[in-house]
Amino acid sequence: MSSKKSFYITTPIYYATAKPHLGSLYSTLLADIFARIARLAGKDTFFLTGTDEHGQKIANAAALAGKEPKEFVDSFIPAFKQAWHTYNIAYNRFIRTTDADHGINVQKLIQKLIDQGDIYQGSYAGWYCVPCETFLTEKECIDNQKLDTPPACLSCNRATVWIAESTYFFKLSTYQNRLLDFYKANPCFIMPKERAQEAIKFIEAGLKDLSITRTAVKWGVPFPGNSEHMLYVWIEALCNYITAVGYGQYDKQNHFTQWWPADVQVMAKDIIRFHGVFWPALLMAANLPLPKQLLVHGWIKVNEQKMSKSLGNAVDPMELAQVYDPETIRYFMARYLPVNQDGEFNIQALEQAISADLANDLGNLVNRMILLAEKNNNLNVVSVNQWSSASLALQEALKSVLIEYENYIKEFQLHLAYARVWHFINLVNGYFHTQEPWKVVKTDRTLFNEIISATAHALYGIANICWPVMPKKMEQILASIGHTINLDINTFNALAKDSWDKKFILSNQGTLFIKPIQKEQVQNDTAQRQPLAQTTSAVSSLTEISIDLFKQCEIRTGKVIACQPLQKSEKLLLLTVSFGLHGERQILSGIKKWYSSDDLVGKQFVFLYNLQPRAMMGTYSHGMILCASNEQGKPIPVSPIEDVENGVLLG
Ligand SMILES: [Zn+2]
Repeated sequence: MSSKKSFYITTPIYYATAKPHLGSLYSTLLADIFARIARLAGKDTFFLTGTDEHGQKIANAAALAGKEPKEFVDSFIPAFKQAWHTYNIAYNRFIRTTDADHGINVQKLIQKLIDQGDIYQGSYAGWYCVPCETFLTEKECIDNQKLDTPPACLSCNRATVWIAESTYFFKLSTYQNRLLDFYKANPCFIMPKERAQEAIKFIEAGLKDLSITRTAVKWGVPFPGNSEHMLYVWIEALCNYITAVGYGQYDKQNHFTQWWPADVQVMAKDIIRFHGVFWPALLMAANLPLPKQLLVHGWIKVNEQKMSKSLGNAVDPMELAQVYDPETIRYFMARYLPVNQDGEFNIQALEQAISADLANDLGNLVNRMILLAEKNNNLNVVSVNQWSSASLALQEALKSVLIEYENYIKEFQLHLAYARVWHFINLVNGYFHTQEPWKVVKTDRTLFNEIISATAHALYGIANICWPVMPKKMEQILASIGHTINLDINTFNALAKDSWDKKFILSNQGTLFIKPIQKEQVQNDTAQRQPLAQTTSAVSSLTEISIDLFKQCEIRTGKVIACQPLQKSEKLLLLTVSFGLHGERQILSGIKKWYSSDDLVGKQFVFLYNLQPRAMMGTYSHGMILCASNEQGKPIPVSPIEDVENGVLLG
């Protein structure tokens, strides 16, 4: 066993009855990103994904397709593997529940529970949903019962069927108190924390013993000692997380103890009950440690409908990947679909992210730096002896980004973590503009080298931090500054201690991000693709935003300390604004017609602080003063009714 820390992450295993959809891509992508973050932190990492291939639903679908069940599920595996390959999903094992080592070792676990008296034979009757492979609880039946018709399934709304049969029970009821105690002692077991309530409420409502075998089902793992019974597919499937890393195999004990318990198990919110109640109870019974955390994400909506496996509205990730670079889709999903809420996938927002965040903010920065260095024969960037205060400020800013980034990652808040990184990217853009290296090079080669070096150091940090989300693109950025990704060390620690003494050999590695083709062409293209066309129409109806989206806007108080009209411009005033600890900014505002220096200097107003720098009349504006216009169209700057400190965040 290696001396490095281990990190084990899993995705849910997907039903092998259809190709992967955006929802399964999202779960898998989250796992891949957190696996890569662990690798970047120098940890030994095991990333498991796979397919769920047993049960009546699959047997029925196979029969409908005129195939044997195994032949039927085999036909879907290439689609999963191809999709994960296309999206650079770097898993360590793709488990199939039809794999020989899975079934045998699930039986060993069940045998252990039989031997210790946790499983007994009885009979069961209830309303059963075949597509979801779930019995309704008594309460669900009462809530959902209509006269003379079977109650509908709560998940998929299909009619259930009455099943009465001999079955084996797992003594789930005896684990009720242990589960509740566990949740009390481990408030972060389910992340985001608020999602734990569903599991806790289900346990508190009273746990009944769980029927874990079916006699009507023939496609599955036989119950040990009575092959008339097949194991309930959910119970069998959950065990993949331990069989995949060697549970029950004598020669793999070290392997098993290295990886289990899993650090993070990723899933969508519709399967909390299985992972947050049945799975921990089974592990308790088997005397195995519980996973450290479950990461539960929301649904991805396309055109306001949830995207789930039972509904047919899934956008095909492979179709998307033909139009957009898969790494840009990875970025969009990580940055704009918060794990703690249902996310809306729409094409316009994706294109906006590619154009603005990736091509403009990041791609252009790399490009401008390299072209300028190339033009001025400075591709060999030597180390800097004495940094200017502006460069040192950039260095400090990167360190504070790292701290905030790591805090967000601990909370699985990828969208906030990368919003913070993009704020830094805009700072680097601001630095590059205000330093004006294209002018400096004519008079001061040493300072020119410093500006290029500081920008390259910043990009080195950015490329490392963004590598988990866009591995190939970030490796391209690193190659363009003469570096590579290093997974042998804890890169986050190294960046935190980085004294900016690196040398860089710059080279042009080609265009990083291509802006989406002209809107009209895209719309013509997507019109032929039904699912994509639906997503574009969803945008206009979007009027409410989440609190998280609002939190991405940094609105701060600031005092105007200087104000002058901008030469050549009829409209613009050039404001120098103090944001206290957050520094001074040059902000341009089109209010010259109504205000002069006397009206503004010494007064406090409210500014959008993290607006990306905008070029105006040959200079740059780093923020925006917030105004409300009166009936005559005169903009009235907004001011706190009492003075507060400068730089205070509004919210
Ligand atoms: Zn159902």
